[in-house]
Amino acid sequence: MSNSTVEHITIEPQAVSSEPSPRTYRAAVVRDFHSPLSVEQVAAAELTAGQVRVRVEASGLCHTDIHAAHGDWPVKPSPPFVPGHEGVGIVVELGPGETGVAVGDRVAMPWLGYACGACEHCVSGWETLCLEQKNTGYSIDGGFGEYAVAFGRYVVRVPDGIDPFDAAPLSCAGVTTYKAVKVAGTRSSDLVAVFGVGGLGHLAIQYAAIAGGRVIAVDIHDEKLDLARELGAEFTVNAAKEDPVEAIQRLGGADQAIALAVSPRAFEQAYGSLRRGGTLVMVALPADNEVRLPIFQTVLNGITIRGSIVGTRTDLRDVFELHGAGRTRVIRETRPLDDVNEAMADVEAGRVAARIVFEP
Ligand code: NAD
Ligand code: ZN
Ligand code: ZN
Repeated sequence: MSNSTVEHITIEPQAVSSEPSPRTYRAAVVRDFHSPLSVEQVAAAELTAGQVRVRVEASGLCHTDIHAAHGDWPVKPSPPFVPGHEGVGIVVELGPGETGVAVGDRVAMPWLGYACGACEHCVSGWETLCLEQKNTGYSIDGGFGEYAVAFGRYVVRVPDGIDPFDAAPLSCAGVTTYKAVKVAGTRSSDLVAVFGVGGLGHLAIQYAAIAGGRVIAVDIHDEKLDLARELGAEFTVNAAKEDPVEAIQRLGGADQAIALAVSPRAFEQAYGSLRRGGTLVMVALPADNEVRLPIFQTVLNGITIRGSIVGTRTDLRDVFELHGAGRTRVIRETRPLDDVNEAMADVEAGRVAARIVFEP
C-alpha cells in the first residue's frame, strides 16, 4: 500500500482566449439622440462570468438601430452606446466559467442579449418576454464595432456553410419575421399580406411562402415590389399609387396581415385588408406610437390582433437551418462601418434594396 497524500487544489475558472484582448476597438457610437453617430476608438470591457468576446465580421443595419439612435421609443437607451443587433463574428475570448461556446465558433449576437432563464416566460419558451432581458445594441453595446461582448448563453452558433453576411440579417430580420409568420398562424393557401418590403419584409415574404401562404406584398416603392415578386410574392400593391385595402379586399381579404412598415397608416391599412376572422400581426415600431382601429368591426368580424417581438434562440436556429438548406435568400449590400450615417439616411428614405450589412 502506498502512502500517498492527496493534494487538494482549487481550480479557479479561467478566461480563455485565442488572441490578446483588445484594449480599444473602433465602433459607431450614439453620443446623443440628435447628432450623427461617431466612429471612434472605444475601450474594450473586461469579460465577466458567462461573457464572450466576439471579433465582428458582419453587422446588419436594422431599422431598430435607427429608432435607437434617435431615441424614438417610450423606453430609451442611454447614450453613449454602440447599436447593432445583427452582429456575427468569431468568438476570440471566453469569460470566466463560460463553456457553452468555444473560441473559434462563429456566432450571432441577436437583440435578446440576455434573459434570466428562470422566470415564467423564460421557462415556457417565451424568453423574449423576460422582464430581466438585456438588449444588444440598446441596453448593452452591440455589433457596430470591430468587437462586441455578449453573453455566451444567448449567442447562437452560425452553422458552417452560412456566409456571415447572410447570417447577419437573419439574426434579426430573419428570426423576427419567421416568428411573426408563426404567430400569424399561416397555413397552406392562406392569403398573407406583407406590409413593407424592407429588411424584414423581404424575408417575411419567404417565410410566409414556406408556410404555404399566398403572399401579397405592399410597399410604396416599385423596385421593392419587383424584388417581392422575385422572392415569391404572387400579388403586389404600390400603396403610394393604389389603395391596398381595396386591392386586397378584391382578392377576398387577407387571412393574415403582417405590419412591417414604419408607418401607423400602414398598420391601419393592414387591419383594413383582413377578411373576417383574420389576424393582424404588429411588428414594426414607428416613433408615432398610435393607431386608430374600429371596435365594432374588430368584434363583429372576429379579428385577432397580436404583437410579435423578435424570436427565441430556437427560432433563430430554425432560421439558420432553413437558410442552410437553401430555402431562403438574403438580399443585402455591404458597406464600411464608417458610412453608418449615410446608410441610416438611405434606409429611412427607402433607397436600400433590402438590408445593409456593415463590414467593421
Ligand atoms: P426597413 O426600413 O428596411 O423597411 C421598411 C419598409 O417599409 C421599406 O421597404 C419602406 O419602403 C416600406 N414602407 C414605408 N412606408 C410604407 C407604407 N406606408 N406602406 C407600405 N410600405 C411602406 O425597416 P426594417 O428593418 O424592415 O424594420 C421595420 C420595422 O420593424 C422597424 O420599425 C423596426 O424597428 C421594426 N422591428 C421590429 C421587430 C420586432 O421584434 N417587433 C424586430 C426588428 C425590427
Ligand atoms: Zn432588428
Ligand atoms: Zn426570464
